[in-house]
Amino acid sequence: DKFKDGLTKTRKTFAERMNQLVKRYRKVDEDFFDELEEVLIESDVGMNTVMDLVDRLKDESRSRNIKDTDKLKDVIVEVLAEFLARDNEETKLNINPNGLTVILVVGVNGAGKTTTVGKLAGRLKDEGKHVLLAAADTFRAGAIEQLQVWGDRTGIDVIKHQEGSDPASVVYDAMQAAKSRNVDVLICDTAGRLQNKVNLMKELEKIKRVITRECPGAPHEVLLVLDATTGQNALSQAKLFRQASEVTGIALTKLDGTAKGGIVLAIRNEMDIPVKLVGLGEQLNDLQTFDADAFLYGLFS
Ligand code: GDP
Repeated sequence: DKFKDGLTKTRKTFAERMNQLVKRYRKVDEDFFDELEEVLIESDVGMNTVMDLVDRLKDESRSRNIKDTDKLKDVIVEVLAEFLARDNEETKLNINPNGLTVILVVGVNGAGKTTTVGKLAGRLKDEGKHVLLAAADTFRAGAIEQLQVWGDRTGIDVIKHQEGSDPASVVYDAMQAAKSRNVDVLICDTAGRLQNKVNLMKELEKIKRVITRECPGAPHEVLLVLDATTGQNALSQAKLFRQASEVTGIALTKLDGTAKGGIVLAIRNEMDIPVKLVGLGEQLNDLQTFDADAFLYGLFS
């Protein structure tokens, strides 16, 4: 139901247009597929993925001899599910069962990093884990205070230095604290100024080196936070970050704020990185584990 609420905007445009299309055409033909392509592109599914999807649909309709658009609709849902599903294990966070888990959270400013860190921390704490936060976004004015607000809200300690200090040294201190306090999960917020890509990527590398040196095998997750409302831009950011560091999962925020939830499909299809978490609102419990079935249910029902 969270998914259903969060996807209201996307459902209103994508699913309703799809329904209209199905009613208007009745028979499956080239024009129908052309219009379907348009609906998909306008929902931010992304050109490559749209081509893949429509090719699959054409094959299916031919091989199963489907002539009615009404019947094809079921196949559309089936093919979308196939594109999204893959292995459901993939969407689980990689939590180290015997000791400290370190989660590094990266992404450009405004994507929802700090909020996602706060929500995730609250969720893990609710699951009974001892959580610690590292305020390694020392660059954006107010980022440290913002994380502290989440810390106060969730009752979780935040390791922080002054604004402008070296983020790797914040992370070093946080690693020491995590080890000495027997923390289960350390989540590190990081800066996301994309104006200076080279420096940003170097900074992330340095942070990662510190983490790995202090805890071999860590970071266990590098979560890239992407803003769903930025559409195809989110996809190019994903490609950029993937080039620079090993991203293990995507947290796609603000799905509630977009009518173009098709971006989930584009990311799943074009990136070899699973969407693990989705943000469906601004509140603490609005961060959900991505679930392909719930997503499709939210779109079509
Ligand atoms: P950062 O610069 O990447 O750390 O971004 P912030 O965490 O400060 O988030 C930027 C804005 O997006 C804030 O106003 C958040 O409340 C908002 N936000 C983050 N995630 C979501 C979400 O899933 N849904 C909605 N509607 N807003 C979100």
